[in-house]
Amino acid sequence: MEKLIPNGHSHTSSNEPPLDHDFHSGWGTIYSNSGFKNDDRTRLIWEDYTRNPTRVEGQYHKLLNEYTIRFTSFFKDYWPITFHAHVSDVLIPTTIASLILNTASTCPLIVEDPALSPLLKDDPEPEKVHQFVRELLGWTDVHISAPRLATVQGIYGCAFGPLAHASDEWEYRIIGAGPSPFSITQGDFASADTLLKKLLAAKERGCVTVICDLVNASDGSIFPPENFRMLRTCCAEARIFLLVDEAMTAIRCGAPLVCQRPEYFDGDLQPDLISFGKGMGVSGIAINFNGLMMRHLAYHKREQILQTIRFWRSMVTRPIAMPVLIEALGILNVAEAEDWPARSEKIGSAFREFISRHAGNESQTKEIVRGLGAFIAVDREFSKQFRVMAAFRRQSSWARWLPKLNSAAAVDPQALERYLVGPDAKSLRQVLAREAEQQGTTPLWCFVCGIDAMVEDWCRTCFLGYCGTEDCKRGFDAHECL
Ligand SMILES: [Zn+2]
Ligand SMILES: [Zn+2]
Repeated sequence: MEKLIPNGHSHTSSNEPPLDHDFHSGWGTIYSNSGFKNDDRTRLIWEDYTRNPTRVEGQYHKLLNEYTIRFTSFFKDYWPITFHAHVSDVLIPTTIASLILNTASTCPLIVEDPALSPLLKDDPEPEKVHQFVRELLGWTDVHISAPRLATVQGIYGCAFGPLAHASDEWEYRIIGAGPSPFSITQGDFASADTLLKKLLAAKERGCVTVICDLVNASDGSIFPPENFRMLRTCCAEARIFLLVDEAMTAIRCGAPLVCQRPEYFDGDLQPDLISFGKGMGVSGIAINFNGLMMRHLAYHKREQILQTIRFWRSMVTRPIAMPVLIEALGILNVAEAEDWPARSEKIGSAFREFISRHAGNESQTKEIVRGLGAFIAVDREFSKQFRVMAAFRRQSSWARWLPKLNSAAAVDPQALERYLVGPDAKSLRQVLAREAEQQGTTPLWCFVCGIDAMVEDWCRTCFLGYCGTEDCKRGFDAHECL
């Protein structure tokens, strides 16, 4: 066996396979197949929690604060403020509008002004504060009573709620509810003037935030950096907040956040908000107080920021449950110690080299691979020959490969060859198959369509299963064994 430990951080168990062919990774919710066990700090808290939950609950505020600070240092000045179970729970216009109102109402311009501050005045004047905030944000009644979002066409539509109206998948579209988001189309990027007009009109009709992806979560296509620049400039001019959805791209795309990659980053004009989720262990929104709109709220000191975060979180009894908090902190610690953002870039180039070698001439007539870093979208037909588990969206002709970021072999194109299709592929899968038989489990994902695999007649040679539909059975039966 080759060296297994990705880097020196703590101990990695030597019975882990050097590479597995589960590139589905629970729809991208799994960054690593060793969870956070390599982080001693959180592993010990976890163990203590199973023995003495009350003692660990007593450290709740300390741990939540530790998480907040770690997050901010890892993601370079994005402060996590609100937590939710799923990212769709937070990309709701009323929630985002309330969050912006909270941030504005507790900003230094208000709380440090003796004429306005509810903290400094004996007779608080909420109407006066509210009026000040509306002027600061350029909001009218419509932004308060019927806030709306705008999405850039091609964004991964949310599974439910208002953003589902904009989904590529009809199953989501038919359950979309609430006011449709304003849609910013490709055509709107024809010129800065066109885009600005569109945004000004949206703002006037209640748009509070523009949401975009930088890598399309469904087909891996890239938001052109020049369009992203134009969007930032125009949002700043139209005074609309900008949110980048990083649920799929954080950590996985060669930088802590994909919007921090050199081609997207500009220190003078940054997004205001990011949404995060999936592999992070918890979903939510983080605020960049230097963002193109946020900076007008004049937060300059850490204490001011922590105060507004406290105000927001104090509305709920527990912003995040203890076990989730421990896991989320552990994931962050391992991501930093093992430098997953840098690894994800190496993994991306190793996979791309492997893929283009196998694509040969085919890649001259058709696009075979897309995405950034370790978010790898592969042509669906082409992907079949590798007999790997991938995450599909049903209507999409792309297979998403989301390899584990701790995998030792994933950074080396030769090792990929060897373990995926070469001499060691078969024995590696035998180990997985044997283990599954012992545990009474099966391969997790349908090899053909990517949803949960359900059947008993999975392939013991390739460690592949299918979901049980006729269509997928045909696809499964047609696979050629390793
Ligand atoms: Zn299937
Ligand atoms: Zn097989």
